Amino acid sequence: MKNISNYLLGGLVTIMLMWSCVGCIKDNPSNGGGSTIVEPEIKIPNINKDSAYAFVQKQVDFGPRMPGTDAHKQCADWMAETLEKYGAKVYRQEFEANFYFGKSADAINIIGAINPEKKRRVLLCAHWDSRFQADQDTDRKKEAILGADDGGSGVAVLLEIARIIQQNPIDLGVYIILFDAEDQGNDSDGQEDTSLTWCLGSQYWAKNKHVPGYGALYGILLDMVGSKGARFGREAYSMQYAPDVMNKVWKTAQDMGYGNFFVDENVGGITDDHVFVNQGGVKTIDIINRTKEGTFGKYWHTHDDDMGVISKRSLGAVGNVVLNVLYNEQ
Ligand SMILES: [Zn+2]
Repeated sequence: MKNISNYLLGGLVTIMLMWSCVGCIKDNPSNGGGSTIVEPEIKIPNINKDSAYAFVQKQVDFGPRMPGTDAHKQCADWMAETLEKYGAKVYRQEFEANFYFGKSADAINIIGAINPEKKRRVLLCAHWDSRFQADQDTDRKKEAILGADDGGSGVAVLLEIARIIQQNPIDLGVYIILFDAEDQGNDSDGQEDTSLTWCLGSQYWAKNKHVPGYGALYGILLDMVGSKGARFGREAYSMQYAPDVMNKVWKTAQDMGYGNFFVDENVGGITDDHVFVNQGGVKTIDIINRTKEGTFGKYWHTHDDDMGVISKRSLGAVGNVVLNVLYNEQ
């Protein structure tokens, strides 16, 4: 990997030597002495787009995944088992989600820790619940949506990343947090305080870490990353909280030829899980699909958010960019 920030050089040296000398250069000096750095061959695996797509399909096959339903419980178990199968230590963080319409239901964040013993860690996250109503639709507005992209896609890419890491060991802690109850908020009048009913899982986690004092180098949130023609601009809260991470991820993507997905464009702030993860102390960006017009896709919060909108190319682009960032962070 050529275009890499200077502060990663220590990591590069570690990778260069790790096969022959694991652990012997933990206190690697900062390369200030003019020594020649030989760029190592970092083998970066690709995700399998078919596998990522199948992970979206699997979630959709459970049906709408809103807290309090059987589909929700079944999907939670499947995600936890899948992360365990790929070698992650799994935490199930249960909490009560209070909906704006007065009901409450059991909710659960699923946290998969890959290489939990490593001190250098990156946090990856997505929400896994799907919305309880199709309020942006013209038809069946009160029925829950399948959330193939809005919910399914981010989870699918992260599960695929876990699968790939098991096959291609990485010298880095990778934490995958699947937040519940992101998408059950009140959108009817636009007047409410969004922190009351949206992003409940990330809010709970920010105040109740799965391990007290947990921290990470940074976090990357994936939300609506799998639709055809997905387009990710530089979201304003991400730029405010973690401009260095944004720049690194966007540069990586553009160097890899994914500039048509990761566009050079600033978009407005979105109250998404990353806002609360940032408030919880881990600087985190949001990779989220916004159209050229600055709106969400037409399928957003409608019944069209089904497998018909999902693109293997989009899943592959996002997955490969995140893998590239991770393997260069060792
Ligand atoms: Zn949503």
